Formats: sequence, structure tokens, C-alpha cells
Amino acid sequence: MIIGLASCNTKTAADLFVYNATIYTVDSAFSKAEAMVIKDGKVLATGTRADLEKSYDSKEQLDAKGQYIYPGFIDAHAHFYRYGLGLQTADLVGTESWEAILQKLQSFAQTNPDGWLLGRGWDQNDWPEKTFPTKEKLDQLFPDRPVLLTRVDGHAAIANQKALDAAGIKAGMQLTGGDVVTEGGKLTGLLIDNAVDLVGAKVPPATPTQIAKALDLAQNNCFAMGLTTVDDCGLDYTEVQTIDSLQQKGELKMRVYAMLSDAARNYDFLFAKGPIKTDFLNVRSFKVYADGALGSRGACLLQPYTDKPNWTGFLLSPQNHFDSVARIIYNKGFQMCTHAIGDSGNRVVLDIYARYLKGKNDLRWRIEHAQVVSPQDFATFGAYGIVPSVQPTHATSDMYWAQERLGKEREKGAYAFKQLMQQNGWIPLGTDFPVEDISPFKTFIASVFRQDAKGWPSGGYQPKNGLSREETLKGMTIWAAKSNFEEREKGSLEKGKLADFIILDKDLMQASLQQVLSTKVHGTFIGGKKVFGR
Ligand SMILES: [Zn+2]
Repeated sequence: MIIGLASCNTKTAADLFVYNATIYTVDSAFSKAEAMVIKDGKVLATGTRADLEKSYDSKEQLDAKGQYIYPGFIDAHAHFYRYGLGLQTADLVGTESWEAILQKLQSFAQTNPDGWLLGRGWDQNDWPEKTFPTKEKLDQLFPDRPVLLTRVDGHAAIANQKALDAAGIKAGMQLTGGDVVTEGGKLTGLLIDNAVDLVGAKVPPATPTQIAKALDLAQNNCFAMGLTTVDDCGLDYTEVQTIDSLQQKGELKMRVYAMLSDAARNYDFLFAKGPIKTDFLNVRSFKVYADGALGSRGACLLQPYTDKPNWTGFLLSPQNHFDSVARIIYNKGFQMCTHAIGDSGNRVVLDIYARYLKGKNDLRWRIEHAQVVSPQDFATFGAYGIVPSVQPTHATSDMYWAQERLGKEREKGAYAFKQLMQQNGWIPLGTDFPVEDISPFKTFIASVFRQDAKGWPSGGYQPKNGLSREETLKGMTIWAAKSNFEEREKGSLEKGKLADFIILDKDLMQASLQQVLSTKVHGTFIGGKKVFGR
């Protein structure tokens, strides 16, 4: 008895004991554990229940009931802030026709009667008639209210006359890196790339209350999907300050890796201030856009589009802009992350990166999407330690029409995740939400099965470029953390790391496609504290 009590007192105090679980620690040996001890927001130990009970005395116990625990998911490429704001605009994702959009807008306009009417997420490829819409009916329905409806990829939009007037857009207007589409001398309302921004700039900014509400809605949706860190790819420094202050007040619990947009004010801000690092926020990188998207044929290709002769897309800025930005980011020691979709866009960025990086290095400069890569350019990623940051659901969203745009040969270098992963031996995964759904489970099936939710195509889309389950899980956790220079603090459940973890009802290392898709998140924990639970 006395001996028993004595040994009891030698136990280490802890906050939370999680047991009766299969824990995928995602450590370097990809080992499993059945229990975990947490103290001060960090993992103190993992191991067997019996061993840990002998050594630790925890205030709280959590019976995982035989379920599966993983490190919290990290989405290495998303637009969290924009997603939040988007939750307050008409959601047009999955709409099946232009008529359906008009109907949806009319009811949305009734419940949101003031100011600009904003919508987002349409994709003409989902419609029976796959041509871009025109503004005619919008003008009839909303003659006095500006309307701006952004395509799913954000690289095209349709605006009504009221909105075009607000931005001073005139028929036949020419601009660099964008297109104001005109037919028979009249504006159609269709805007491509930089033309979208011209009109977007006229939308009045959200109020602080609207922003706080938007981010709260966004994080709650993300927590319900098991996300504990998101990379926000392209923010203004003032938006980062908003995120920081909401995190400091404890209102925003999501951890954010924020990339600042390519604008003079953002460079001035961060170069003067230096990198920002708290437990919740990491700001040390810049997001640059090389080209547009494949869907709207804005991606910059080496050879013309297969379905649009004499058209190769375009770069969003002259090459010397990318070069001068790379030089200053390199000299100041920050990370550069550049959106590149087309094989020409990728080559331009790879060549400029290589000029500064010179050879192998650990600066982790990223190419976001790396979507269509010329066969001869893959090796550049490895030779210069350039990180391809990819989104598996782009493959399964685009697979229905990618070959029309690219042709059979060129398509082989598209969405080539395995080949890209092999260049450095690791690859971060993301979704690009709200371009895609926020669900990490959709990422998982797109990466492993290379199929849509219906299991199409059988055998998978270009299956040799799928990743294994283990690689996929790493891409969503430890490798995503690594792309953010955070692999020492998160991305796996090991002693000393942040206790960001999730409890799922499925074993992702075994589950079928349908099982993965129906996975339920039973708990999401950030720093050992529950932020979501059923
Ligand atoms: Zn993006």
C-alpha cells in the first residue's frame, strides 16, 4: 500500500490523457500508438496505455472509443480569409445552368437587400451549354444594383452594367494581363483576370464586424473538417493584422500561415517589421501570380491550347517583374510562393527561382499548383529544392476537360503529383478552397484514388501520378508543415510538438473511397483544447 502511494507521487502531472485509440503519429517511422499524454498544449508522450498510465497523472481523461487519431490537417494552399467573406455572398458552386444562377441570385438579393450583389463559384463547364454567360439578364433583373459573379477559379467574372460603370469599364478597353470581353462592339459583362480585379476593387470593403463574423464562420467549418492550420495564400498586411488581433483576443483559434500578396505596401511592411511568428500566426512569405487558370484559358502554355488555336494564355506581369521580386525576396531572406499553372508559367518561375537559388538549398521556395509541367522541367524542382505545392482535387475537378485544353501528350505532365513528389522526396497538399471544397477527405481520395465521389474513372485518372495513403497523409500534415518551416512544431504527434489532433471514425490507411468520403470528425483539438466535437 505505502509503496503504491509512493510510486503514485512520482508520476508526472499532465493535462489530458487520450487512450483507447489508434494514433497515427506520422513520425519519421510512421509509427502508431494507442495513447497520448498532453501538457501545456503540447504532446508529452505517446505509447501504450499501460506504460503511460504508470508514468503520468492527468487531470482529464479522454476515451477515444477505439477510433483513429491523426495530427490535425494542414491545408497548404487555401484562401481562408476570402472563403470567410465568401460565406457572406451568394454561393454559386455546383449551379447547373445560368438560369439556376439567376434564380438563386433573386432569392439571395431578397435576404441581402443592400449594396453590391456578390456571388462566387460558377463554372460554365458544369452547364449543358458550356459557353460563358452574358450580362443581359442581369441588367434586366438588377438595373440599379451592381452585380459581380466570380467564376469558381477567381480568374473570370460576369458583371452587370451597373458594376462595369462603377469601375469605368468601356467596350474595347485594352489592359495588360486581362481581358474585357466585347462582342459586336458591346460589353458582354465577361471579365478575365486583371479585368476582374478592376471591378472587384470597387466593391466596398467589409466592416470589422463582418470580417470577425466571416472568419468565425470559416474556422468553424474548417474545424468540423479536421483542419487545424491553413495557409492563406495572398493577403494584404492589413488583413494579416486583423487575423493577428482576433487570434490575440482568442476569438480566432485557427492557426494561419499567411503569405502576403505581391504589392509594394506588403513588401515595405514585412521588410521593415521582419517575419512575424506566434503560436498561431507565421508570416515570412510572399505570394506572386505568374499566370491564370486552365479552366478560363488564362494559364500560360508553351504551345497553343488544343481547343483554342493561336492562343497560349498569358503571364500576369512581365518576366522582369518576377525577377526583381525574386531578387529582393532572396536578398531579404524571405520565402517566395508563386502561382504557376501552365507549362510556360512554370518554366518562367522555375528559371527565375533557379537564378537566385543557384543549387540545393533549404529556402523552400514554392510553386503553387505546378499544374502543367513540361517533361524537361520536372528535374528543376529537385535540383534547386523548389517545393511543388499541389491540390489533388484540382486533378479530379479538371479531369473531365483537361485533355480538351491540353491534348493527350501534354496532359501527361499535368497533375503529376507522384513525379513532383519524387523531386524532393516530399510534397505539401492543399485544396485552394474556396476554389475547391474545404474537405481534406476529398483531397485524400483525389490523391490516393484519383477518382471523383462516384468512383469515376475506374482505375483512376492518370493513376501512376497518385500518391500512396501514407504519402497523402504526410502531404496533409508533416509535409505541409515543412512547406511552412513548421515541421519542428506541428504536423506529427511527437514529444514537444503542439497537441493539434483530430479523432476520426475511419482508418484512412484502410478505408475504401466511399468510407473516406463518409468519414466523421468526432473531435478537433488545437493545443490540446477541443475546438470542435460531436
Ligand atoms: Zn489559390
